[in-house]
Amino acid sequence: MNAFIIYAHAEPKSFNGAMFRVAQDTLRGAGHSVQVSDLYSMRFDPVSDRRNFASVKDAEFFKQQIEELHATEVGGFAPDVEAELRKMEWCDLMIWQFPLWWFGLPGILKGWADRVFAMGRTYGGERFYENGVFKGKRALLSVTTGGPEAVYQKGGWNGDIHAILRPIQRGILRFTGWDVLAPNLVYAPVRVSDEERQASLKSWAARLRNIENEQPVEVGEY
Ligand SMILES: Cc1cc2nc3c(=O)[nH]c(=O)nc-3n(C[C@H](O)[C@H](O)[C@H](O)COP(=O)(O)OP(=O)(O)OC[C@H]3O[C@@H](n4cnc5c(N)ncnc54)[C@H](O)[C@@H]3O)c2cc1C
Repeated sequence: MNAFIIYAHAEPKSFNGAMFRVAQDTLRGAGHSVQVSDLYSMRFDPVSDRRNFASVKDAEFFKQQIEELHATEVGGFAPDVEAELRKMEWCDLMIWQFPLWWFGLPGILKGWADRVFAMGRTYGGERFYENGVFKGKRALLSVTTGGPEAVYQKGGWNGDIHAILRPIQRGILRFTGWDVLAPNLVYAPVRVSDEERQASLKSWAARLRNIENEQPVEVGEY
């Protein structure tokens, strides 16, 4: 299996950093090929505009999706976007490792998605949802939170974590055809004991050793 891990945390010694290393080591140890995008280390540029393209369709008025369609036709994506597109196209399993920020993605990862999920190359025409470009590939969000599990229940203080993740799981991943695996949720790693954190890392590794046998989940509707 080819696995692609996108990691969004600025501190290598963070818990997210530990999750990222466990995923790489476990998947490689199980004989899979792994490519990564460590967005902060790469200094990935998250700003989406003409810098996404080497080609130009309309020099007078910038419309991102029109430029994306044109770049798809002429091979006109900027090298940093093209490199990420190729990693997505190469992989069978894509994992996003990130801390929940304001009920969503850290900006660097949101910007990665804004730039890389290009119209034409990753969706469009008749290719959406179950007929999407990435049909048959699997994606998994590996998320840490600041709040404990108790506040992420339906009707709870922060509400249902699955509803919070739906814009990502449905609006980006399922929209472009990915089969979505259950998110890997580690609640409040900063608030628990070292033993509990070690247990979370171990259970992540155990899950990944058997990931090929997992079935996708329903991401839910609105
Ligand atoms: C801008 C912003 C917005 C946020 N929005 C939200 C939000 O909407 N909802 C929410 O719930 N939270 C939110 N948070 C909090 C954030 O989600 C958490 O702080 C984050 O998920 C914790 O993960 P971390 O990797 O940064 O933890 P860290 O603080 O890096 O790690 C936690 C502990 O794990 C230890 N550790 C590291 N490696 C290991 C290892 N190998 N074994 C054992 N222990 C280890 C660290 O030393 C540390 O003590 C927000 C934070 C910011 C900055």
